[in-house]
Amino acid sequence: MRRVTDTATVVLAPNPGPMTLDGTNTWVLRAPGAQSCIVVDPGPLVEEHLVLVATQGPVAVVLLTHGHVDHSAGAGRLAELTGAGVRALDPALRLGGQGLGEGEVVAAAGLELRVMATPGHSSDSLSFVLAGDSGDSAVLTGDTILGRGSTVVAHPDGVLGDYLTSLQRLRALGGLTVLPGHGPELPSAGTVAEHYLRHRATRLEQVRAALAAGAATPQQVVEAVYADVDRALWPAATLSVLAQLDYLAGQGLS
Ligand SMILES: [Zn+2]
Repeated sequence: MRRVTDTATVVLAPNPGPMTLDGTNTWVLRAPGAQSCIVVDPGPLVEEHLVLVATQGPVAVVLLTHGHVDHSAGAGRLAELTGAGVRALDPALRLGGQGLGEGEVVAAAGLELRVMATPGHSSDSLSFVLAGDSGDSAVLTGDTILGRGSTVVAHPDGVLGDYLTSLQRLRALGGLTVLPGHGPELPSAGTVAEHYLRHRATRLEQVRAALAAGAATPQQVVEAVYADVDRALWPAATLSVLAQLDYLAGQGLS
């Protein structure tokens, strides 16, 4: 458990791996002096982790950045342990009835969290802008922006065009601290979103070049474009390539 800002503490889930980096970040948010807290992304269904998160309560509400199991599988158990409702964009993931979507403000634990729909990694991905005493101070990005490396556009649920739009919106947040779903916090949403946009442009250029050089299958594109990436990540890279081919086809460029 580590205090990251005045209002945010991270509890690292014990699920490290090639896709989850050090593990899933479960975020516990509360205004200084507030009794209750907001939990963002309970993480996997691991009892010791969820019990540790529950000890940070009382928990006013549990929010999900998206439905991938490394973020959401523990939500039901955490709700049992704490009595809190679970809010998510996907109705199938909610407990206690309340939805969550673009422009909504979640007011709890002395804080206000503004919801931004940031699809692309998945269709149901949300980011939460955390307002501090002196205005917006941080943004919780789930898997839309990670603390290290780049994320996967999980085709076909994830769509690259949506993802680029989401990154542009996050870039417009400027110097807010990024509290990601995996990996360390980052000092500036604007800077990292710009970096991600440039990375995506580079990859698209590489995919175009691979196609021009004769790559005929997604696997051949992966071998050409992701040669510098750990092979354990190639299944994920294949999803991103499929998303990129879909994007280029939509632009009439492939
Ligand atoms: Zn995810």
